[in-house]
Amino acid sequence: MAVRIYEDARAMRRAIRRETGYENPKGGAFTITDGEGVAHVFFAASMLLLDFVAHEASHVAMDAVARKFGKRSLFDRQEEVATISGEFVRLFWNKYLGLDDDFHVLGTARLFEQNFTKELV
Ligand SMILES: [Zn+2]
Repeated sequence: MAVRIYEDARAMRRAIRRETGYENPKGGAFTITDGEGVAHVFFAASMLLLDFVAHEASHVAMDAVARKFGKRSLFDRQEEVATISGEFVRLFWNKYLGLDDDFHVLGTARLFEQNFTKELV
């Protein structure tokens, strides 16, 4: 795996375009797995958030499992799985640290509201 961290989103997006040919105008990070099975992960230091790392790590894991079974991708909903992983990590830390958080997708926040209990053992 090759992880690159650029100073800001503009530099990251320029590198993504130059190195992969893809445009990623709204994304805060990007992952692509090459023909050799090497995952290339792009981050911007100014937007380096835990949920982005979890999101991209999910893409790396799904690409690796797909490659292991000789497929290009596991299924056509990988973006949704990565989004839920990122949401999970962000909501977990915000809840754990007691931070306000009103942004959520795909019902992940509801799951946390109903089931999150913090017990330190
Ligand atoms: Zn994604």
